[in-house]
Amino acid sequence: MGGRQARYEAVIGLEVHVHLRTQSKLFSPAPVLYGELPNHAVHPIDLGLPGVLPVVNGEAVPLAVRAALALHCQVHERCVFARKNYFYPDLPKGYQISQFEAPLATGGWLEVPAGEGGEGVRRVGITRVHMEEDAGKSIHDEKVAGREGSHVDLNRAGVPLIEIVSEPDLRSPEEASAYLRALREIVRYAGVSDADMEKGQLRCDVNLSLRRRGETRLGTRTECKNLNSFRFVEEAIRSEMRRQAKVLDAGGEVVQATLHYDPERRSTRVMRVKENADDYRYFPDPDLIPLELSREEVERIRASLPELPEARRARLREEHALSESEAGVLTSSRELADFFEAACQAHGDAKTLANWVLRDLLAAVKAEGLELDRIRLAPEAFAALVGLVEESRVTARQARELLPELLREGGDPAELARARGLEVVRDAGRLEAVVAEVLAAHPEAVSNHRAGDEKVVNFLMGQVMKQTRGQADPGALREILVRRLKE
Ligand code: ADP
Ligand code: MG
Repeated sequence: MGGRQARYEAVIGLEVHVHLRTQSKLFSPAPVLYGELPNHAVHPIDLGLPGVLPVVNGEAVPLAVRAALALHCQVHERCVFARKNYFYPDLPKGYQISQFEAPLATGGWLEVPAGEGGEGVRRVGITRVHMEEDAGKSIHDEKVAGREGSHVDLNRAGVPLIEIVSEPDLRSPEEASAYLRALREIVRYAGVSDADMEKGQLRCDVNLSLRRRGETRLGTRTECKNLNSFRFVEEAIRSEMRRQAKVLDAGGEVVQATLHYDPERRSTRVMRVKENADDYRYFPDPDLIPLELSREEVERIRASLPELPEARRARLREEHALSESEAGVLTSSRELADFFEAACQAHGDAKTLANWVLRDLLAAVKAEGLELDRIRLAPEAFAALVGLVEESRVTARQARELLPELLREGGDPAELARARGLEVVRDAGRLEAVVAEVLAAHPEAVSNHRAGDEKVVNFLMGQVMKQTRGQADPGALREILVRRLKE
């Protein structure tokens, strides 16, 4: 970046909201539904109607604990739900049930790639993980039920989520999005959330301040709210870094403010200035008793956590001599890592399988518009397909041609190859016959070869391949061809 910003260091802390993968809402029996008609998944509790009382969803708590443990936090034996009071149309109760003084968990960390080329590692402190309910959604500039104007959709009101607050340990837009990626990977691995950003299941507030290089005190920060893509997070940080640097360079002071990022203008806009805990008049929710978690329960949940991405990456590298980036892609989702490891069980040569997964399988899955958890191809069948290539029973190209159908329909690769008439022709008698035919058809090529033109061999190979629709075994074919040309 330019000279102005080189003088300043960015200090970034993220507040990340992650929806928990539950059937129903945090305090009401209304279902959690995405893409439903507006206001079709609401219960009087979500509306804050008088005479109804919240009941904590027993499904949500263990999920929140899983996330906290996966982030190396200390989970507390007692936490308290508190009311965060503010007025906004998407919050009918006038307060959001959250946690404040006694959160679920504190004091964790997460390691992310850091530095210029991402070659270093930065350990980012996790200040706290607390539970809260989501608010509804305001809809502007969009017709709802044929009507113009602003609307409120409360389907999201009361959806359980965790807020994960980081220490101000991040130093660049790239580090911030790497942190967010790592977080998304972990909550998915741990089965806590689908963390689909397009559905708003993972959203992030960016806190940013600048300080002169060498300075250890923190500068005044701004907070950019509700970013729901990695790109927006990076863009918002870059834009806000530029804005703050300009203010500081002009001898001014950054004013603490809440910002909104406008992706179309690629810049931030001030929504409101200064806002702190006092403004929210937090107090313990008198309708809810403190949440108690026994040591045993927390330990039971810890024991049920799967191997997490970082550990799995290290193990795969070690066990199969894979590179950092190969292991990185193979463990980028639990489904992919499971698929790869199951294929290795069936086949053995992990390096070859890794190449096939990274080069061909992922591309084919994408080209077919599929997701890995929706393919019909079993890992064992994938290993078998790679085996067919290794035994020269089909060519690599043929194997790639079989992939789309195998992905969509499943089945046995050897059978499919046979059904499509794809198996390599190695039958010597058949090859001899085709070679004889080709030589007879190209006398000038044969005499050129006698005159010393070696390139002719490739031309004749090509002719035989054409005759056999690419199915001749190249090794066997070359042998026959060379021998016959010498005769
Ligand atoms: P709140 O936003 O609710 O007032 P905090 O004041 O605890 O909560 O801070 C929220 C986030 O802001 C945290 O992620 C924290 O790391 C980050 N943060 C706090 N101070 C700064 C700062 N001076 N510069 C950048 N980030 C900061
Ligand atoms: Mg905040």
